[in-house]
Amino acid sequence: MYIPYSCHNVSNDDVQAVIKTLQSDWITTGPLVDEFEQAVSSFCEYDYGVAVSSGTAALHAAMFSIGVKPGDEVIVPAITFVATANAVVFQGATPIFCDVLKDSLLIDSNKVENLITDSTKAIVAVDYAGHPCDYSKLREIADKYSLPFIVDACHSLGSTYCCNKVSQYADLAVFSFHPVKSITTGEGGMLVTNDPKICEKSKSFRNHGITKDYKSRSGWDYEMTELGYNYRITDFQCALGMSQLSKLPEWVIRRNHIADYYNENLCAQIRPLSVDSNVVHAYHLYVIRSNNRDKLFTSLRKVDIGVNVHYMPVYLHPFYRDNFGTSEGLCPVAEDVYPTILSIPIFPAMSDFEVEKVTDEVNKLAQ
Ligand SMILES: *Cc1c(COP(=O)(O)O)cnc(C)c1O
Repeated sequence: MYIPYSCHNVSNDDVQAVIKTLQSDWITTGPLVDEFEQAVSSFCEYDYGVAVSSGTAALHAAMFSIGVKPGDEVIVPAITFVATANAVVFQGATPIFCDVLKDSLLIDSNKVENLITDSTKAIVAVDYAGHPCDYSKLREIADKYSLPFIVDACHSLGSTYCCNKVSQYADLAVFSFHPVKSITTGEGGMLVTNDPKICEKSKSFRNHGITKDYKSRSGWDYEMTELGYNYRITDFQCALGMSQLSKLPEWVIRRNHIADYYNENLCAQIRPLSVDSNVVHAYHLYVIRSNNRDKLFTSLRKVDIGVNVHYMPVYLHPFYRDNFGTSEGLCPVAEDVYPTILSIPIFPAMSDFEVEKVTDEVNKLAQ
């Protein structure tokens, strides 16, 4: 049986919650959207949440709501999912790629300051694999230059940093509810913030730039004040999200148990990424490093273990080479680590038997 690198976990009570909403008066942009926004934002200790159709839409709303526009630069890590940088491009701005740390693949906070120019509009960090980035240092830099600090937390819902949730540090955090992520709504995402203006702007942005509350039953008139999109999420997706969120804490624990097993039982040739002692890791991914990565990838796939690679440095994609003139040499650490990384299966519904099987196969094939 094929073991994927990640997998959603939908059970009967999730299904019932969705059915109940489908049979109610609202199937989109109704009360469940508000409920889900409140639940997620209070879970991560922010004042406001704006639920949208994907994590990518949430990143785009983030860029829009802080006013990123053509001519601006936004600092992003070299190793992340393409959407982190793409959201900058959606607003006509330029992503500036910052190198990562070789043992964690998190943005190298010591290299961020050198990239700041008069055109810099924001700093975006990614909690790669589910490990919180260097929040205190990044907050310090953001404050020094009066820049918003945004965290693409699509991997890290459920993590903590120095016992704190992200809200203590980042102006804005973004989550994805794609089926491979911590909890799912099928497709979906959310932006969380303490700034009521960012919340308001994002809510309008997800609804064509129309300022009126979609649930208002007063007059027929409305105004479109800025160009927005249809980035709305449905009520039945939020019903699924609510049901999923109630299980998140136990799922984070399960992910950590699996990671502990890997840490203790993988052979010495396999080098997992480093983990700081002051964090609770959300373990969206369990990433190993091997000098035989390509061979290991092929042989593990052959035995039905769905390993994957997260990610090629974003600026090496043809789109960025062609449109931003990026090329090899830009972020040497990222380029050095990329050929060695491999994500092995980790997800809450994975059985102990599957965890042992993956461990045995990796150890056997790594020899
Ligand atoms: C998944 C992911 C996204 C995009 O989320 P979608 O919901 O798939 O649009 C953005 N950034 C990172 C780091 C991700 O892992």
